[in-house]
Amino acid sequence: MDKSKRKAIIAGNWKMNKTPSQAKELLEAIKPLVADADCEVIACVPYVDLAVAVEATQGSNVKIGAENVHWAESGAFTGEISTGMLKEIGVEYVVLGHSERRQYFGETDETVNKRTKAALAAGLKPIVCVGELLWERECDITEEVIARQIKLDLWDVTEEELKNVVIAYEPVWAIGTGKTATADQAEEVCAFIRAQIAKLYNQEAADAVTIQYGGSMNDGNADELLGKVNVDGGLIGGASLVAEKFAAIVKAASK
Ligand code: PEP
Repeated sequence: MDKSKRKAIIAGNWKMNKTPSQAKELLEAIKPLVADADCEVIACVPYVDLAVAVEATQGSNVKIGAENVHWAESGAFTGEISTGMLKEIGVEYVVLGHSERRQYFGETDETVNKRTKAALAAGLKPIVCVGELLWERECDITEEVIARQIKLDLWDVTEEELKNVVIAYEPVWAIGTGKTATADQAEEVCAFIRAQIAKLYNQEAADAVTIQYGGSMNDGNADELLGKVNVDGGLIGGASLVAEKFAAIVKAASK
């Protein structure tokens, strides 16, 4: 399938940055810079910023995502947030299985799968993150790791539901380190992910699914990374906190 027929998506992952007033300020700066974007533009922001962010982006082409969600509808899960809570305030996307959640907060493929299923059932669009550790790349098991994550994280997700899933390939060694995967490395794994989707579903589903690259993508390297056939967008951490840098990446994806 022609890459241009897939939805290109640039999503900012703000992580634990920006208070509500700072979030509003950053979104106000981003909006005019990305108004002409020929790709989907998303800001995934901390929970406490979500309501302000949804309000600030109303009527614009910037969509809002959360950075995680619990799988239960409600109950005794102190500190957690449900899909219904996100839906009610107008959130559309949710980042799931980010390596920082896996690394620091005990996230597993099983819980990523539960969150993914719950998000889809509630009508949220999950951005499911997968990626290998440096050690795993050095041991030459990148494909095994990715295949396992894709299979487990998307377990029991139907072909119809898959249409609302975005996959983000984020090599853990490239996140927040300034070390970007080369465009060829990113392309190789994104193509592998697409092949796994073809195996688990079918070629049509694989051709249609949006696969982002994430890991130190910035205004300087976005052109080359996004120029690759199987790289349909980016999940952007650090550079998404600077309006001009984020807008430059959006511009690169709009070509
Ligand atoms: C991320 O947080 O998903 C990410 C890719 O971060 P950075 O762009 O800062 O490497």
